[in-house]
Amino acid sequence: MKNWPENITRQAISDMSAYSARGGSTDALHLDANENPYAPPPVSNTKDFNRYPEQQPAALRARLAALYGARPEQVMLGRGADEAIEVLLRTFCEAGQDNILICPPTFGYYKTCAEIQGCGIIEAPLNDDFTWNPALVLKTAKAAKNLKAIFICSPNNPTGNEIAQDFVERLCTDFPNTLIVLDEAYIEFSNALSFAGRIDEFPNLFVMRTLSKAYALAGVRGGAAIADPRVIEMMLKVLPPYPIARPVEIAIMKALSPSAMSVHADRIAETIEQRAYMRDELTNSPFVKTVYPSAANFLMLDVTDAEILFAQLAKRNVKIRDYRSTMGKVRISIGSPEDNTIALKAFGVSVRNERKDRIGEEFRKTNETDIAVRVNLDDTRIVKIHTGIGFYDHMLEQIAKHGGMGLTLSCEGDLHIDGHHTIEDTALAFGTALKKALGDKAGIGRYGFTMPMDETQARVAVDLSGRPSAVFKGTFPTDHVGDFPVEMCPHFFESLAQTLGAAIHIDVEGENSHHMIEACFKGVGRALRPAFAIIGGDIPSTKGTL
Ligand SMILES: *Cc1c(COP(=O)(O)O)cnc(C)c1O
Repeated sequence: MKNWPENITRQAISDMSAYSARGGSTDALHLDANENPYAPPPVSNTKDFNRYPEQQPAALRARLAALYGARPEQVMLGRGADEAIEVLLRTFCEAGQDNILICPPTFGYYKTCAEIQGCGIIEAPLNDDFTWNPALVLKTAKAAKNLKAIFICSPNNPTGNEIAQDFVERLCTDFPNTLIVLDEAYIEFSNALSFAGRIDEFPNLFVMRTLSKAYALAGVRGGAAIADPRVIEMMLKVLPPYPIARPVEIAIMKALSPSAMSVHADRIAETIEQRAYMRDELTNSPFVKTVYPSAANFLMLDVTDAEILFAQLAKRNVKIRDYRSTMGKVRISIGSPEDNTIALKAFGVSVRNERKDRIGEEFRKTNETDIAVRVNLDDTRIVKIHTGIGFYDHMLEQIAKHGGMGLTLSCEGDLHIDGHHTIEDTALAFGTALKKALGDKAGIGRYGFTMPMDETQARVAVDLSGRPSAVFKGTFPTDHVGDFPVEMCPHFFESLAQTLGAAIHIDVEGENSHHMIEACFKGVGRALRPAFAIIGGDIPSTKGTL
């Protein structure tokens, strides 16, 4: 049939260009979609999959409200922040009559949704240097008729810059009958204070947050609108049924568990640091003319010889976002230190201190404990431990310090019973994270020996053989040190050996349990240090595998 199906399609849909929703995971290094380079905690639970979920799952709503500093009735959960944009337009914008204001270049989906809804789009563009033009926004908004929403994306995608907070306040006050939509998709990477906790001050403020970027859940689809409860009520009439599938709810609750939050904080801090590093290094690239300042997890660049650059990137299988046809720029997401090193090489930067951080993460949740661990065998700066057992925290710090590793370990355990599960399960999770960080173990020292002294002597030997084995010789004069039962000391090393896949031999003598346990932990740390260290290139085994 000729013209099919244009002849039956709404004119506005025929006329518009499709939003480019790029997704999917290939073996390329994806620095093109501002995703998180690390994976969220895994889930395996099919409870209630046979039931429809709640329209707005209450536990999740409460969790996100707490995370964002709002009240549950101020929150609408949806399939990403994207759905909040769509529902907002469908709820408040009369087709063929109402308008929204956007400040291009900005996130493309505002325009797409407006076109689908048949709502007018008024533009108050950023300045040529991509800074905001508040005077133009005010003037344009004042002149507009039937203006239902002003969209402000801050930090802005794809430019990375932020809007002044007092200007947002001014918009809220000056336009009381217009929704002031503040898209805070990237705010976790900036120093700005979120407006999500200020809904009571401004009934026309509408904040959007997403779990896709900072919390590594882009594939899960979860986001929130935060607004006056009356605005939320109205939107809930329009939101399609059951937007939050049960697996999605489970995945988000797990990813935002109290123990996981410390790992998220590390990842965000790493991204912020890597952003500064990439900004410096990219200015040395022969392909880069300008690196724009950014408060998000990406950088916008002006490039030259783009064809050669893209060929270089393709050769290394690195994907970045190409905005040359619309605004003459490219955008690169900040990846892990290792990802960024690969990207810099494609940009022709000779990397001075090449980073290939061996990072291992483990999330472990049972009815007894909820644990998150992140180790970095090549960056010792972050050591953050919380298990609820003071002496044990101190011992884990000793392993990290003397082992020469960064360690974030957080555990919410059943301490009302005793410390047993907490100590055992954190040892298991710690061993698993270390094993992941070691990867194929190429180049490592493999063995470690130590004999620290005091009135106490602990002789320690380790072998990262892949074969778990623990031998402990020693008798403690007391049964507890603080809240720490001394019998858990040998048990800790057994559990660690089990998941790390190592032989750990300890022989301790002394007169003071505190000193003896401390000597064991320090000694194992010291023994692990040369075992983890990269001293060659090969896998140190005649078998060729460890
Ligand atoms: C990624 C992004 C979103 C969408 O987030 P989802 O929760 O994944 O739908 C919204 N706004 C901006 C500016 C973004 O970059």
